[in-house]
Amino acid sequence: MPTPDLSHDLALGDDLRAFVDASPSPGHAVAELARRLTAAGFTELAEADRWAPSPGGRHFVVRQGSLIAFRLGSGALGDTGMRLVGAHTDSPTFTVRPHSDVRQAGYRLVGVEPYGGGLWHTWLDRELTVAGRVALRGGRTALVRLPGAPLRFPSLAIHLDRSVREGLTLDPQRHLVPVWDGDLGEEPGLVEAVAAAAGVAPDDVVGHDLVLADTQPAARAGADGTWIAAPRLDNLTSCHAGLLALLDAPAGERTQLLVCNDHEEVGSGSMSGARGSFLEDVVRRLATATDPGDAEAVHRAVARSVLVSADMAHGVHPTRYDRHEPAHQPRLGGGPVVKLNANQAYATDATTGGWFRERCAEAGVPVQSFVMRADLPCGSTIGPLTAMRLGIATVDIGMPQLAMHSCREVASALDVPLMVGALTACLAE
Ligand SMILES: [Zn+2]
Repeated sequence: MPTPDLSHDLALGDDLRAFVDASPSPGHAVAELARRLTAAGFTELAEADRWAPSPGGRHFVVRQGSLIAFRLGSGALGDTGMRLVGAHTDSPTFTVRPHSDVRQAGYRLVGVEPYGGGLWHTWLDRELTVAGRVALRGGRTALVRLPGAPLRFPSLAIHLDRSVREGLTLDPQRHLVPVWDGDLGEEPGLVEAVAAAAGVAPDDVVGHDLVLADTQPAARAGADGTWIAAPRLDNLTSCHAGLLALLDAPAGERTQLLVCNDHEEVGSGSMSGARGSFLEDVVRRLATATDPGDAEAVHRAVARSVLVSADMAHGVHPTRYDRHEPAHQPRLGGGPVVKLNANQAYATDATTGGWFRERCAEAGVPVQSFVMRADLPCGSTIGPLTAMRLGIATVDIGMPQLAMHSCREVASALDVPLMVGALTACLAE
């Protein structure tokens, strides 16, 4: 097992920053994953085609904002089971409404709807753009990202609202409407700009899944430059680490699989989300390919499998450390965090948590633990949903970060090689 480099080697952190910058929307994250997989020799399978993957075959499948990549093992799925890593491609943001052209007070604005549980005040006064997928006449789609920083949510001056000293209250319908420009003439609006970015006429855009995105590139931060300040670290960090682990893991008799689902931030209930059929559909097709004629293969495969659900974890806060359980305070740079919850908001149990710790010990990776305080409710992730849907043994883990769901989050680049090393060891078991 390769021992991860524990020195201040920031190369993988720099690669994570490039991945985040290339991924302003789930569609872009999937495209970037697909680009890197293709460069490494993986080929795409379409769900609408017949599949005939052979042992050792490396492929990926895309369903909307979700992607599954796998390296088929040399053994039959029912005999060997799988090692899986799960993550999510989406982050809290705002989606552009169908009728988005808003005009008031001499400004043109863009109507948007909050997506997920963002810390919306952190989106104020930032240089924003629009990115995502557009549907074009004739059944085609295109990914677009508007150049520059055409949108922003300007704060209201303190002189115009002194009550802000008691706490900022933002009404999403009235206050969170980004401004496009101050010209109500016939200047191009958002739809015209999106059509231009897609290289088509405005009438050719028949639908869109567009989100707002921060335009400030991900940066090295902190006194020694080992922190990463970036948007969407939750959970592009785990998509990136899972990808590197899949590319690094040596081929074996067991199938290795990475699933990156969309819609985690809104409950995962969609055809591409973790409560949907995507992973189960792919696993069934793989079992059909490796175990032809064996009706029990998929059940035997799942019973022999382990899923590492990789999402971010709360690092202890420098001034609000009292919000952490005193004996469970993960620190940035301290390695992956195993997440447990008595009420099953996380899927980790004794066996899966222990299995993960063993893999980390083999790889020389330190492990931390997180439980929520007993007087605070616990967040959740794709782990319990996938465990519930497939009946698969699951461990919930994550890289520690600060400011989860802020427009600008913080993590340690030193954790990136630790996470990649841990996930590689899990896939390679
Ligand atoms: Zn997350």
